[in-house]
Amino acid sequence: MENIYKDMGISDEVFEFGQKALEGLKDRFAEIDVIAEANQMKVLKALQECQVSEACMLGTTGYGYNDLGRDRLEEVYAHIFHTEDALVRPQITCGTHALALALMSNLRPGDELLSPVGKPYDTLEKVIGITPHPGSLAEYGISYRQVDLLSDGSFDYENIKKAINDKTKLVTIQRSKGYQTRPSFSVDQIGELTAFVKSIKREVIVMVDNCYGEFTEKKEPSDVGADMVVGSLIKNPGGGLAPIGGYIAGKKECVENASYRLTSPGLGKEVGASLGVLKDFYQGLFLSPTVAASAEKGAIFAAAIYEALGFDVIPKADEKRHDIIQSVVLRSAERVIAFCQGIQKASPVDSMAMPYPDDMPGYDSQVIMAAGNFISGSSIELSADAPIREPYAVYFQGGLTWPHAKFGILRATEELYEKGLIELNR
Ligand SMILES: *Cc1c(COP(=O)(O)O)cnc(C)c1O
Repeated sequence: MENIYKDMGISDEVFEFGQKALEGLKDRFAEIDVIAEANQMKVLKALQECQVSEACMLGTTGYGYNDLGRDRLEEVYAHIFHTEDALVRPQITCGTHALALALMSNLRPGDELLSPVGKPYDTLEKVIGITPHPGSLAEYGISYRQVDLLSDGSFDYENIKKAINDKTKLVTIQRSKGYQTRPSFSVDQIGELTAFVKSIKREVIVMVDNCYGEFTEKKEPSDVGADMVVGSLIKNPGGGLAPIGGYIAGKKECVENASYRLTSPGLGKEVGASLGVLKDFYQGLFLSPTVAASAEKGAIFAAAIYEALGFDVIPKADEKRHDIIQSVVLRSAERVIAFCQGIQKASPVDSMAMPYPDDMPGYDSQVIMAAGNFISGSSIELSADAPIREPYAVYFQGGLTWPHAKFGILRATEELYEKGLIELNR
């Protein structure tokens, strides 16, 4: 095995350091396999109960009336998330779009949006209007309030209670940490927060940004009281096969509102041709539990290695996980860049490309992104990205297979090692 890795550019030193880190991870990997097994059954059961057939793999063109496969897939999502309805469409272009759609369709002028978990994902700042932008919620007279987490990462119940008022219509909870160094939330934590919010104002809509969280636990936020869960198909639930798309699963009224905004009032879910993507939506969903598990194993392996190297990692290798993201605080721009360049070199596509930091739409500092993917920009595939700012944390995620995730981390570590940015003899 050592020779195979050597042939792939991994030195004996880095390989052995990796093998040592792996030794302690057997139990963690076994736990992940159990979750994958449970979720595989959940997905299979939904596909069977909804009587998915060969004809569902075909798509429609034009208006997309009577798109059997599209409608059935939405039923499958509703089964999996245990919701009344779902909207799963290639016309939803990405996670930000899905979230913007859910917000803009369920909020009206004069309403207030509350984030009780601190600042939302960077790209939502312009959607909400935290950073002023044409078309933002703020421009339509929808106000925004935020309650930050307490310094230990827990919910600030006292101030959340104070922040809920007559205007509060929708509460948004981001499950995954995104580009922050806070911990991600477990489904149970989300359930507690949801119950608390509803105990103060029962009719409030609780929406969860579920990006990166799908299938990392046996339950989803919709199982613990969330009215809407929203995510991207170029992350977990697309299983690496969906070439585009997003989903909103939740209460019938919430999903209907979203459909009227996505297409048009009066048309809603009835239109929207699925073109040729349905086979990949179905097959990707079917593979998603094991793909998410592979990505999680990669994340834990990365945590174990970088902990051993003396860096802060979130979460730690032995901590419970609620998403597939691993952040490693590398403490310098040089290390962040080298790590990302190593990930790029490990990619099946564009391995010869070299990523550098640059400005990105939606982000307020320069960002470096490493991804050599079959689906452009897909972050369920092996990828790493980092905003070039303190504390110089790199966010690593994905890996369609565990062996590839493992190789990616070794390759990134090799890059740091060769540049003299880490010492292996600790
Ligand atoms: C990725 C992500 C988004 C945005 O999704 P895009 O597909 O990149 O637009 C939103 N929230 C969280 C937590 C994410 O991880």
